[in-house]
Amino acid sequence: MVQESALNKEFGRQCEKNGLLVEIRDLKRLYGEEIRVKIAYISKEKELIENAARAEETGDRKKIASLLGYPACCSDFFIKYFPLHDQQPSGEEGGITKKVLSFSKKPYPHELNFFFNFDSRLKPSKLNAEQIKIVENISQYCLYFINHVPCSLNCKASLKKARAMAGVIKEREPGFAETVSSVLKKPIFYLDDFLISVFEHSKVENSRIVPELSTITGKNALKKLKSGKGRLLRFK
Ligand SMILES: [Zn+2]
Repeated sequence: MVQESALNKEFGRQCEKNGLLVEIRDLKRLYGEEIRVKIAYISKEKELIENAARAEETGDRKKIASLLGYPACCSDFFIKYFPLHDQQPSGEEGGITKKVLSFSKKPYPHELNFFFNFDSRLKPSKLNAEQIKIVENISQYCLYFINHVPCSLNCKASLKKARAMAGVIKEREPGFAETVSSVLKKPIFYLDDFLISVFEHSKVENSRIVPELSTITGKNALKKLKSGKGRLLRFK
């Protein structure tokens, strides 16, 4: 599924060329909430489009997760810890990423680095306009190999899926696959779902912060890092 705004003529032509149906549905409810939203569904089978639209309208998250091919362990985890309309627990530390980290053991494989996929998180109002722009910019580039929230950074089913996706991208767009891998291997200074600094090299002390990927930059990041408040995440 994609938002209608992401569609354009070229995208439509490419789908048609590859035998994919594109249907825009005008939903009156989304996950139990009264809201009018247009969602474009892309599939080879019309029946799957019907099922996905119905599951989203009625709020059947287990069904939609299975239609999208998410591992059952991950959808069970997400549904258990993030009930509808309450996906972002309040508080400085952030909700979704914090919960995933609490179930994760080092070393973290870079293929499951989902910190640049902000889709499942709700935007907290505390971000300033510049930080929101950075988040929106990062979101445009699909810097991830899994498009779901994993139940941990060691989830075997997610890793299998991520490696398969990395393989497909590598085969078709090797340059892009290389870029995504190199971004996912960069160390992240992590504060919460949205507050991160990304370092250029593994030796963080002598490294530059990548401003395009970071919502905390400059002296502020290093000050927070030294204060011991956040965590430094490294990916192999
Ligand atoms: Zn899982």
